[in-house]
Amino acid sequence: MQTNFTAEQLADPHVATSEKILRKCVHCGFCTATCPTYVTLGNELDSPRGRIYLIKDMLENGRPADAEVVTHIDRCLSCLACTTTCPSGVDYMHLVDHARMHIEETYRRPFWNRLTRNILAATLPYPSRFRLALKAAALGRPFAGFFKRFKAFEPIGAMLDLAPKTLPKASASSKPGTYDAAGERRGRVAILSGCAQPVLKPGINEATIRLLTRLGVEVVAPAGEVCCGSLVHHMGREAQALEAARRNVDVWLAEVEKGGLDAIIITASGCGTTIKDYGFMLRLDPVYAGKAARVSALAKDVTEYLATLDLPQQEAKGLTVAYHSACSMQHGQKITMAPKTLLKKAGFTVRDPAEGHLCCGSAGTYNILQPEISAKLKARKVKNIEATKPDLIATGNIGCITQIATGTAVPILHTVELLDWAYGGEKPVAISNLATKMPA
Ligand code: SF4
Ligand code: SF4
Repeated sequence: MQTNFTAEQLADPHVATSEKILRKCVHCGFCTATCPTYVTLGNELDSPRGRIYLIKDMLENGRPADAEVVTHIDRCLSCLACTTTCPSGVDYMHLVDHARMHIEETYRRPFWNRLTRNILAATLPYPSRFRLALKAAALGRPFAGFFKRFKAFEPIGAMLDLAPKTLPKASASSKPGTYDAAGERRGRVAILSGCAQPVLKPGINEATIRLLTRLGVEVVAPAGEVCCGSLVHHMGREAQALEAARRNVDVWLAEVEKGGLDAIIITASGCGTTIKDYGFMLRLDPVYAGKAARVSALAKDVTEYLATLDLPQQEAKGLTVAYHSACSMQHGQKITMAPKTLLKKAGFTVRDPAEGHLCCGSAGTYNILQPEISAKLKARKVKNIEATKPDLIATGNIGCITQIATGTAVPILHTVELLDWAYGGEKPVAISNLATKMPA
């Protein structure tokens, strides 16, 4: 695509990066077919190609964002299905990240939208605040329908719907500490504690720690770690996201100095995509650029790391698992085979639901901020999953777990919870509750 930026505009490194991305797009439109918002809404401006044009026009003309651009960029899930499909290698992720930053800097949102986003940014990345908010939301659940009657309050209704009725107790696994390897040590890793996940499902990191230590890997949960910054990054709040990234880089590199690290293990693929991008996010910071690139190189999804440990084949479990590949896993990190291969080795029968490339509608805060589109995508996802007639659903991202669980009675677990059980760990309660065909 031809671009018309001035030399002055290109002196801004963000614009220079976006210009390079824009020039790669050849308008072919292949990406529209796999874009969940285009498939759902049928509007070219809600397709990757349409958004690329809007962003190009806004940036080239040096214009502040307007309501039209904001509407269509806000509807983008950042699912990155378009990057997987694009034959020209258009880096849509960094282009839309830049557009979101530009929107945040130049556009004043309507009051209720601003307030909702401020509340989300001040709550979700902080586990203790998030826990309190969920407790309050549990009390407000009966009023979800009332809020959903008013457009401006739909996000509040969506938040109340998503809030679980009960919360698990805070887990020791989200506190700093070192978990020794059983037997001879074959590796040392850090684990990202995370922000929303340890509040909603602390069992995921507990299962990860149990499994890794049993396999001879020392796991450290370093002190001082914060939210990866993904939630605010996708809201265009770059300063807040970069601050989080710098803090985590310092914490993890201190751990590397202390005892060496083979990997930084991440159990939420949304966070993994962002941490693997720290090198890019901090590329303009002379102090942190190199350090962030080192951290990104160490970041591994838990299944990516487990795949290197050569786990033995286990007996068949007699359970069929529908594997839902989170967008951040398949499109963001391009991890497609490892989770399924591990589940098969662990003795599960694995099914791939149809339209696996389409987002479930979770996408960070999307299911709160865009509840209508999100609900349509969830219904489509659940229909495809249930068509495989699974006993269980497995996935690798807490956002998808929360989203899909509100649409189906089929139990949904994190992949690592199933692997932990298959390799000698506790049986997940959801499996104990199944009227099963499992071996005793
Ligand atoms: S990131 Fe997803 S929703 Fe956004 S344009 Fe690409 S395919 Fe569409
Ligand atoms: S598939 Fe790639 S090159 Fe084609 S329109 Fe979409 S982004 Fe542009």
